[in-house]
Amino acid sequence: MPKVKSDNGNRLLLPEGFFNQRSISPDTEYWLDEREGDLILHPRIPNARKLYVEPTTGCDLHCRTCMRSVWEDPEAQMTMDTFQRLMESLKDLPSLTRVVFTGFGEPLTHPHILEMIRAVRQRDLAVTVGSNGLRLDGQMARDLIRLGVDRLVISVDGVKPETYAGTRGGMLSQILNNIRILNETKSQLGSLTPALGIEFVALRSNVDELAQLTGLASRLGASRVLVSNVLPYTEEMRSEILYGYEPRPPFSSGSWPVKADAWVMWGILELPRMYWGAERRCRFVQDRAIVVGWDGGISPCYALAHNYSYFAVDGRKKQVSRYVLWNVNEMSLAEIWMSEEYVRFRSEVRAFHFPSCPNCDLRESCDLRERNEGCWGWNPSCADCLWAQDIVRCP
Ligand code: SF4
Ligand code: SF4
Ligand code: SF4
Repeated sequence: MPKVKSDNGNRLLLPEGFFNQRSISPDTEYWLDEREGDLILHPRIPNARKLYVEPTTGCDLHCRTCMRSVWEDPEAQMTMDTFQRLMESLKDLPSLTRVVFTGFGEPLTHPHILEMIRAVRQRDLAVTVGSNGLRLDGQMARDLIRLGVDRLVISVDGVKPETYAGTRGGMLSQILNNIRILNETKSQLGSLTPALGIEFVALRSNVDELAQLTGLASRLGASRVLVSNVLPYTEEMRSEILYGYEPRPPFSSGSWPVKADAWVMWGILELPRMYWGAERRCRFVQDRAIVVGWDGGISPCYALAHNYSYFAVDGRKKQVSRYVLWNVNEMSLAEIWMSEEYVRFRSEVRAFHFPSCPNCDLRESCDLRERNEGCWGWNPSCADCLWAQDIVRCP
C-alpha cells in the first residue's frame, strides 16, 4: 500500500503511476467520501458499460410470475423525445458497449422499437433484446437480424404446453414456432446472430421440466439458458419458491452442442444460487450498468426501478419504492452516473455496506425493513436483495 502525504498547502500527493495504472487523466475530479473513519476517493469517470432500457411497461402477456401483477406503476411507453435525449447522452459514455432492451414490459410491443434499435446500432453498440417471443414473426425476425441485434433472450418457463400456459397464459407452440421462424430466417440471410438465449424462471410447478430444458435449447439452437428463481410478489408465488435458508443441492445440469460458424461449441447453462448465504455481490453495479425507465428515470437496477411489494427470503412482506437518480430529460447520463449520490450508492453496494436483515433478530417486526430501508443509514437498502445473492437473475 503506497504511503501518501499532504504538502504544505494541504494537497494530497498521489504516487507516480497512480493515474497511468488506472487510465485516469490527471485533471479528473473526485468525490471525497468518508465511511466509518476511512477516507475514500471516488474518481468522477463516465465509465458505465451497459445500459438497460425499458421501452414500455405494457405487455401482451399476464404471467403469474411478473411484478406487473402487483405494482401500481402506470402502463406507459417511452416517448421518442425521451429516447432521443438518451441517444444524445451516449456520446459522453466512452466505455459503453451494450444496450439491453428489456424490463417489466414487452419491448417488441413498442411501436418504435426497431427505430430505437437502429439508433443504438448506428452508434456501434451491441444490442440485446429480452422478449416473450410473441411478436417474433417472420418480418420481425428479418428486421432484428438486419439491424444487427446480436443477442435475443426469450422467456420459456415450461417445456410442456400446459406448464407454459399455466405460468404465462400463452401458447408454447406459438413461441416455439416463432423461434423456428427466426432460425429459418437466420439461415436464409446467412446470419449467425442474434444468438438465442432462453430464460427459465424455476418454480415448484415447473422444476421437473428443467431436465428437459437443455434438450429443448439444443433443438432450438439456443447457445445459452439462463435459469432464475422467482421473486415472489404474491402468496401464490411464495408457495412456488425453491430456494431458502438452508443449503440445498443445485439444479442438475447438462450440456448441448450449438453450431457457431464453422465450429460447434457447447451451450452455456447458467444456474442460480439456491440458498441465502453470506456472500453478496451486485451484478448491476459490478457490470457498471444503468437502468433507464420508460419515462427516462435512471435507477441502479431492476430491483429498484418500480414501486411494488414482494416477500423476502424469510417470508416478510416488503414494500419497495422506485429509486430514481434524476432523469435523462433533465441531465445527461454521464452527469447522472458521476453525481455524488449515484457514485456513493455504487460504492456502498460494491462494499456491500448493508446489514443482512434475514439474519437479524428483529427481522419480523422491523419497520425499516418493511419499507426497504436499513439501519446502517443508507436508503434504499440492498439488505434483502435476492439479485445480490444470485438467487434471482436478469439477462
Ligand atoms: S412477458 Fe415479461 S413483462 Fe410480460 S407479463 Fe410476462 S414476465 Fe411480465
Ligand atoms: S434494518 Fe436493521 S434492525 Fe431492521 S431487520 Fe434489518 S438489520 Fe434488523
Ligand atoms: S444489490 Fe440489489 S437492490 Fe442493490 S443495487 Fe444491486 S440489484 Fe439493486
